[in-house]
Amino acid sequence: RGKRAFIAGIADENGYGWAIAKSLAAAGAEILVGTWVPAMNIFETSLRRGKFDASRVLPDGSLMEITKVYPLDAVFDHPEDVPEDIKSNRRYAGYSNWTVQEVAECVKKDFGTIDILVHSLANGPEVSKPLLETSRKGYLAALSASSYSYVSLLKHFVPIMNPGGATISLTHNASERIIPGYGGGMSSAKAALESDTRVLAFEAGRRYKVRINTISAGPLRSRAAKAIGFVDTMIEYSINNAPLQKELVADEVGNAAAFLLSPLSSAITGSVVYVDNGLNAMGMAV
Ligand code: NAD
Repeated sequence: RGKRAFIAGIADENGYGWAIAKSLAAAGAEILVGTWVPAMNIFETSLRRGKFDASRVLPDGSLMEITKVYPLDAVFDHPEDVPEDIKSNRRYAGYSNWTVQEVAECVKKDFGTIDILVHSLANGPEVSKPLLETSRKGYLAALSASSYSYVSLLKHFVPIMNPGGATISLTHNASERIIPGYGGGMSSAKAALESDTRVLAFEAGRRYKVRINTISAGPLRSRAAKAIGFVDTMIEYSINNAPLQKELVADEVGNAAAFLLSPLSSAITGSVVYVDNGLNAMGMAV
């Protein structure tokens, strides 16, 4: 049978998660999705009404099928962690079983095992503030949603992954280089994500024979990136300064992800793989 993938962090057709899902579907994988609870209603409705159909077309002309969409909030691990104000929030009220532990249990109950896990989510409430002006709360929220969420997903999903399985997350070069504007502790969160990729690759590799890598992606006009505000500047900067002077399209990250999640990359684990038209390699802009 084909491989089964769970992709956390899709809520529309514009982000990296959607492009990764498409590349995996084109390679024959079954697609399960985890969607942030507050975005669940609009995503499911749009999917059902065919709003994404043009974006669902695969290279062979067929449409990507999403077998099931699970509501997920990756900042909560167990039901007892959820505070009252979230429980009673009207955007959460209609949904259940959306903490990381519960989603993993539901996937196990529905399908038994998975082969592929994708973490394509991030959130930094103070991303538009410089690090020097970031509050402790904002900094820790960025780490919770963008870094620990991967640790938690792996903790709960790796035990239901088949040996030989693979996982990736999405990171950004602001972890290693100064990217003014990528604030609120998001640069710190990506640094943690990349360091954790190495440690988790060791732990999951030894214990479960599962591979763990992260893609350091160039700028894309996703919903999350538009919220940061300067993505157009980054795209223009990359086109002017990268070795490959073209706009990065999400499918290029999708295809690299499909490689890292397939047996073609069976000896690659613990790596940060740059899919950024080579911009990270520049030491001097010309
Ligand atoms: P996106 O908006 O498509 O994806 C981010 C997703 O995270 C959204 O669907 C959002 O609903 C979800 N999310 C936020 N908080 C969540 C939570 N608590 N629980 C579950 N889901 C939650 O945007 P994207 O840019 O494609 O982001 C995907 C990944 O790619 C992120 O890790 C991002 O940092 C990374 N990335 C993006 C760029 C870029 O320029 N767009 C560059 C490098 C890396």
